[in-house]
Amino acid sequence: MLYSIRMRAAQGGAHENGGQHISGAECLLTEQNLSDTAGMLIQRALHHSKGKADFIRLTIENIAEETIQTVPMLKIESFAAADLTEGHNDAVQFLQRAGISRTAIDKAMYFLTQLKENMRGAVVMDAQSGKRLDDTGSRGIRVTKMDFKNPARAKEKLNACGFTNIHVHEAIVLASKVLSAPGVIGELCWSDDPDYIIGYVSANGCYHRITKMKPLHSNQGGRAFFVKSGTDINALRQYLEQQVVLVDETL
Ligand code: AMP
Repeated sequence: MLYSIRMRAAQGGAHENGGQHISGAECLLTEQNLSDTAGMLIQRALHHSKGKADFIRLTIENIAEETIQTVPMLKIESFAAADLTEGHNDAVQFLQRAGISRTAIDKAMYFLTQLKENMRGAVVMDAQSGKRLDDTGSRGIRVTKMDFKNPARAKEKLNACGFTNIHVHEAIVLASKVLSAPGVIGELCWSDDPDYIIGYVSANGCYHRITKMKPLHSNQGGRAFFVKSGTDINALRQYLEQQVVLVDETL
């Protein structure tokens, strides 16, 4: 039997009462691993580079096995950018190759670099016009209910390829779910953690890890999902927030 466990943490009270988002994480696991993981997530919220959370919400939910969907893990390629300009140029190239317009890419980049407060989730943009299509405001769409099908095996494989960072492990799960969603053709992400400057573009079945995507010490980061024109945004949101997805690195 599987459980979904999700953690959200903020400073200055709950998110809905104006608290500043500090940290969030989610995974799927068995009953035996629930307590250890809950403890680990609480520690993560209390010791974050963005500050100490004073509000932590843990949600634990049982998952019906028959509702679970399995998707392949994206392949990973790493690109060492000399500086921010080169990193952003790489990102533009990978997104354009997937059919995303330069206008949409520029709008997404501008959006992510201009954010005044941290978002918990992602924005959804039309891949041609760059118009924002979700109506979630400063919260964004939060992707949840996902994990590796076999976490130990998947992490071993990633570690063997040199991808040892937990950021990458979590992001590859999220990116694999997002790119499997109906209508999504690409994603652009860099973290809002001030000390983590690596970002990625996922598109065409590949997670392109790019080593320089934002200035060190900047806490402006986020995610943009690019969708084909005509995508049903409600169905997409339902999939991203509710569909339980396991990512299988053997597919
Ligand atoms: P992180 O890579 O965890 O530092 O997150 C960077 C940014 O990505 C956050 O500020 C959010 O805007 C976005 N983000 C993080 N986790 C999720 C998620 N589960 N679903 C959608 N967006 C997310």
